Amino acid sequence: MGEFDLIARYFTRPVARAPLGVGDDCALVRVRAGYELAVSTDMLIEGRHFLPGANAELLGHKALAVNLSDLAACGAQPLAFTLSLALPEANEAWLAGFSRGLFALADAHHIELVGGDTTKSVVATGGVAGGQLRVAPGPICISITVLGELPERAALLRSGAQVGDDVWVSGTLGDARLALGHYLGEWVLDERDLALVAPRMHAPTPRVALGMALRGIATSAIDVSDGFLGDLRHVLKQSGVGAEINVDALPVSALLGSQNPARARACALSGGDDYELIFTAPPAAKESIKNIAKLLNVTLSSAGLIRKKSDLILRDAAGQIVPATLRGFDHFA
Ligand code: ADP
Ligand code: MG
Repeated sequence: MGEFDLIARYFTRPVARAPLGVGDDCALVRVRAGYELAVSTDMLIEGRHFLPGANAELLGHKALAVNLSDLAACGAQPLAFTLSLALPEANEAWLAGFSRGLFALADAHHIELVGGDTTKSVVATGGVAGGQLRVAPGPICISITVLGELPERAALLRSGAQVGDDVWVSGTLGDARLALGHYLGEWVLDERDLALVAPRMHAPTPRVALGMALRGIATSAIDVSDGFLGDLRHVLKQSGVGAEINVDALPVSALLGSQNPARARACALSGGDDYELIFTAPPAAKESIKNIAKLLNVTLSSAGLIRKKSDLILRDAAGQIVPATLRGFDHFA
């Protein structure tokens, strides 16, 4: 199967919302007057973000979910997306599964795939100089760019946290890391427990409706992709503030809460891949936030306060200082 058959067969669907989709040199996406276009890109690489042999349908879901999570963190409404693929081969079983997972999540958010790029993935070995250049099949690379819209100046930014704001977290933290630890052999979960947390790692739910509901209420927001501490630090740095967090107030699932306490705390504080939202809001917004939680049926927990002093202090429920040595994930650290 050639490149163009592959695109036509697996990634071309008629568009209804966008004026022009796959097939021309550009796609066209309508932007309403008074709105800004929100753009975000995320890439997943085999061996880096997912293991060789990972389930293709779940990958299709996750590749789009992590991108939608970035729109959610800005409060943007998703409009459309593009997909760039580097594949070692045109494996039809893989493509069928991947596109199924991808379009299921796209349909759930009423967004259309409007373009992309498709290429073979190779790794080159040997030098050009010696005439020894060889290419072997390379890893699967998946890069998605999402487009969303926001009323002008309504975006939730990392830089808006104010002294005195509460620090909020959606859902629960650490389950994706609990699942990962099982796969890495750091601990063993029984089948039933793994079935509870594996979807948190493989098929995260982007908090799109929550992000949109927080416009005009939250002063800052970020999604938890690299771990609560690391991602909160981004907000603090860009807002020029500090925070005091009660680590025992961080929301965790019943399963994570039943694990060995050190493990539970480490997963909640520094586990990545949760795709929950951290946001800050003034105390006066508490009622609105509780209403949003009820309306969207999502747990929203306040776990600390933004302070003036630009450091991050962690305490347990008894008020004892907890060392904040755990870091978020950094690809080049
Ligand atoms: P160009 O030569 O202009 O880069 P291509 O031949 O790469 O165009 O792609 C042809 C059309 O197919 C374009 O409209 C492009 O956006 C679309 N396309 C290519 N790969 C994908 C993909 N993986 N998913 C969706 N659309 C794609
Ligand atoms: Mg191209």
